[in-house]
Amino acid sequence: MKIAFNKAFITGSEEQFIQDVIASGNLSGNGKFTNLCQNFFEDKFGFKHSLLTSSCTDALEMTAILLDIKPGDEIILPTYTFVSAANAFVLRGASIKYIDSTPDHPNLDPSLIRPLINEKTKAIVVVHYAGVSVDMDPIMDLADTHNIAVIEDAAQGLTSKYKGRYLGSIGHMATFSFHATKNIISGEGGLLVVNDEKYIKRSEIIWEKGTNRTAFKRGEVDKYTWVDIGSSFLPSELTAAFLWGQLQCLKSIQSDREKKWRLYHRYLSKETQVTIAKIPSYSTNNAHIFYLLAKSKEEREALSSHLKNDNIQAYFHFLCLHKSPAGKEFADDQKFPNAQKFEDCLLRLPLYNNIRDEEIQYVVDSIKEFYK
Ligand SMILES: *Cc1c(COP(=O)(O)O)cnc(C)c1O
Repeated sequence: MKIAFNKAFITGSEEQFIQDVIASGNLSGNGKFTNLCQNFFEDKFGFKHSLLTSSCTDALEMTAILLDIKPGDEIILPTYTFVSAANAFVLRGASIKYIDSTPDHPNLDPSLIRPLINEKTKAIVVVHYAGVSVDMDPIMDLADTHNIAVIEDAAQGLTSKYKGRYLGSIGHMATFSFHATKNIISGEGGLLVVNDEKYIKRSEIIWEKGTNRTAFKRGEVDKYTWVDIGSSFLPSELTAAFLWGQLQCLKSIQSDREKKWRLYHRYLSKETQVTIAKIPSYSTNNAHIFYLLAKSKEEREALSSHLKNDNIQAYFHFLCLHKSPAGKEFADDQKFPNAQKFEDCLLRLPLYNNIRDEEIQYVVDSIKEFYK
């Protein structure tokens, strides 16, 4: 048996919607399928305003423009995350203040934020790792007190909830990814969510190359022109049509994926040698990632080569930003022991919609064999 780490799941309805776009001749962005997707997200998840983007990275860059980030500003974000959030703000001249993970989950530790806040702080970016929610209440309180924005990088978090509220509906803004490795995909693709009313109008302008074309399309102005800075952040209708196909099956995609996750959980929670993911009680789980925690980097490397010998692809995840070639200038040799532990010890197992139950069993058997 050979088990891939990830396989993109195609529902079958994407093709028909793409055919519709081709037949209509309206291939560029901000058309029928873009609107269908945006309305779907707003209705289903309680997002105030949403705009499809070409990637989550693009959506994060839009948040930095919307917050008027400039040199000298500071952004607080976890060191254990993907590079996109840091990059979006550094591109506009900001500095980064890194924050450590909690002891038992890769998510950032809210209790460490307050000492990092000063008059230069403009935003806190939280990342819901593996689709598991960060503890948002203390963060929203801090942001409120100090008048700073909270951006949820919910790239991995679609459909998950924090205390009954969907991820992406809590922060002032939020971003999602439909990259081919996420639960819902469009090859490349993303979403900007704007929950704070005061950013909505400008978000549409930045999205459409700094023009008021969106207002023009709604008939609010009789010509469109350059009104602000911006870029081309919107995806083509071909991408939106693909995404619309996926969204038709959102419920079954999620329930199948959650079943696979629970199967791993059921098999592995009995193994005393194995430490598996913990889901805090305030969060639901969208089964984006199933990971183990080895006791050391050496153990993780040995387990990963053992699995590789059995033709199973299992991967570590983020390399901490505070030690990266481009990110270490913001860290002044600070240590982030929890994040370091997740960099060293976390191992992600193969998980995708049509992984077969026997394949999961095979992975589990190989893990048990390793620990024997
Ligand atoms: C996938 C991911 C991104 C990047 O998404 P793109 O759509 O590829 O730009 C950003 N942040 C996190 C946490 C991610 O997992």
